[in-house]
Amino acid sequence: MKYYIMTLFPEMIENALDTSILARAKSNDLIDFCAVNIRDFSKDKHNKVDDYPYGGGAGMVMQAQPIYDCYMHIVEEVGYRPRTIYLTPWGHPFKQQMAKDFAKEETLVFLCGHYEGVDERVLEEIVTDYVTIGDYVLTGGELPAMVMIDAISRMVPGVLTNADSKETESFEDNLLEHPQYSRPAEWMGKSVPEILLSGDHKKVDMWRYEKSVERTKKYRPDLCDI
Ligand code: SAM
Repeated sequence: MKYYIMTLFPEMIENALDTSILARAKSNDLIDFCAVNIRDFSKDKHNKVDDYPYGGGAGMVMQAQPIYDCYMHIVEEVGYRPRTIYLTPWGHPFKQQMAKDFAKEETLVFLCGHYEGVDERVLEEIVTDYVTIGDYVLTGGELPAMVMIDAISRMVPGVLTNADSKETESFEDNLLEHPQYSRPAEWMGKSVPEILLSGDHKKVDMWRYEKSVERTKKYRPDLCDI
């Protein structure tokens, strides 16, 4: 999986993605990132990439030309038009299932907006998917892109080892994960539930399932009818 991130702040992406499990996956050639600076494609003599909105109103709008040229540069490198995601508060909500679907692609392109957003005409030309990470407004698309890349990468075969297995995680089977405990068996007067120390795997699995259902009912009853 190769990610291209069209951004005005490539250093933000490069610093954040080159850590932990993603860095390991990158050194194992399972994923790769390329942050491409939209400003490098500006034809303005001051490297401007934004201008006032037609019709008036507050803020600035990212112009079509530098974004389109940046995108075409990526297309030339890839050899085809990859799935291209615009991060935007008005997109489809990002979900675990979406992460699984995106993980089937070989290449993904992310467009990170800033200011009031992006000229609609370039979105019409290049974007295949409009995605939001939640009902709030951030200053730019870099954090949403990194959230998506992190979640998608975990679904790329080989990225997670057995040690960080995803089988029983939240959102599998529309359930949230059960509570987790580690050593010591007693901490601040609180004991680990007896059953987890029993060595009876069937009973442990049953207890975990019940706790998952309990937690889902309490925090996310919308996930399923249980
Ligand atoms: N004027 C836009 C609106 O009301 O929809 C908000 C623009 S926001 C200040 C600047 C950029 O941040 C957006 O173009 C988008 O790329 C990104 N962004 C902000 N909130 C986001 C969210 N919840 N999900 C995904 N991207 C977001």
